[in-house]
Amino acid sequence: MTRQALIAGGGIGGLAAALGASRAGWDVRLYERAPVFSEVGAGVQLGPNVVRVLHGWGLQEALAHVAAFPHRLQVRDALSGRELGVLQLGPQVLQKYGAPYATIHRADLHELLLHAVQAQGNVWLNLNSAVASYVDNGREVTLQTQTVAGPGHAPGARPVASAPLLEVEGDALIGADGLWSRVRQQMLNDAPPRVTGHLAYRAMLAQASLPERLRSQQVTAWLGPRLHVVQYPVRGGEWLNVVAIVHGQVAGDLQSWDHSANAGDLQAATRLTAAPLRDLIEAVTQCAGTTGPAWRLWALCDRPPLSGAHQQATGRVALLGDAAHPMRPYLAQGAGMAIEDAAELGYALAQALDPAFDVPTVLQRSALDR
Ligand SMILES: Cc1cc2nc3c(=O)[nH]c(=O)nc-3n(C[C@H](O)[C@H](O)[C@H](O)COP(=O)(O)OP(=O)(O)OC[C@H]3O[C@@H](n4cnc5c(N)ncnc54)[C@H](O)[C@@H]3O)c2cc1C
Repeated sequence: MTRQALIAGGGIGGLAAALGASRAGWDVRLYERAPVFSEVGAGVQLGPNVVRVLHGWGLQEALAHVAAFPHRLQVRDALSGRELGVLQLGPQVLQKYGAPYATIHRADLHELLLHAVQAQGNVWLNLNSAVASYVDNGREVTLQTQTVAGPGHAPGARPVASAPLLEVEGDALIGADGLWSRVRQQMLNDAPPRVTGHLAYRAMLAQASLPERLRSQQVTAWLGPRLHVVQYPVRGGEWLNVVAIVHGQVAGDLQSWDHSANAGDLQAATRLTAAPLRDLIEAVTQCAGTTGPAWRLWALCDRPPLSGAHQQATGRVALLGDAAHPMRPYLAQGAGMAIEDAAELGYALAQALDPAFDVPTVLQRSALDR
């Protein structure tokens, strides 16, 4: 008998969950509210803990094709420019952890997972499908989705008010629908995400468009008072990703924020920093116009930790990625943890093919093992 997994959300976590579940022998139906599978233009760092999972899924070659593998992580004082510490990555990390440290464009990671999912043959992907609610009656879980109007991730994408609710039944539902998760809202009914007061300005640009002295093939983290800037190569080292986090607030609905940024605010917040950092921010800002706006803005939100890992699964429903444990990005592990969750889920779902194990028990065990 084939088991059916339903997945809410087709971000990095949802696609990784689809891969984990389909590799475990489950049929998968995934529902994404956007009209296309896409990821915003920004980078992610992937520690060896995550790269190892991707390698285990047979994605080593695909990853090597699009990622960069920096040899060094340097931490610098943002005000004086002084070096505070260095972590050797490259061969040392490979030797110690059995997998390299990678940096990658989010869109490349997302696409790599999408291709792997599409190659599985037992995954059905549904776009323009907003998850509205679910019913878990103990024997199966029924997911209700609604057709979406509007341009997906762009502001204003909302379910069509008059669209009928479509229902689909499965043996398990995985809520991978991100920070503002509907599945979590129904499962835990906790408070909405909290606004941290931290703003992330993100930019990605061809290294060739920067003066030679500002190009870099290492990870550099600049630390200063109320300031955190990270730069690293992506796309085989040809592009540079820069994230600058400062304190501040934005007005408006954070769920439909269009990410437009005022570079002048960032320049003001970093005006006392060391010359190389100031020069980098200025050079990135100057790239505006040639490849669209240089900086895009995220108002960072998170949630207080759950009271325990057991809260990540109830009955036939489990949460994964930012839906389960949204965090601030300072340790660069959010997407990585979503992928690790998906790997753990895959092990658990493989067990549930044995009639001796029931689905709620394996989902609960997988939540506790994460
Ligand atoms: C500035 C910054 C830097 C970061 N850097 C790193 C890093 O270096 N390394 C790292 O590992 N992580 C990093 N992260 C964290 C990482 O981006 C997230 O943890 C990760 O993207 C979470 O993936 P997810 O799939 O759980 O959620 P999301 O990426 O939010 O995906 C959720 C998906 O669900 C869809 N969805 C939402 N609601 C519904 C619904 N009702 N119905 C259907 N679909 C729905 C959305 O459209 C979306 O496609 C960073 C985050 C930020 C903000």
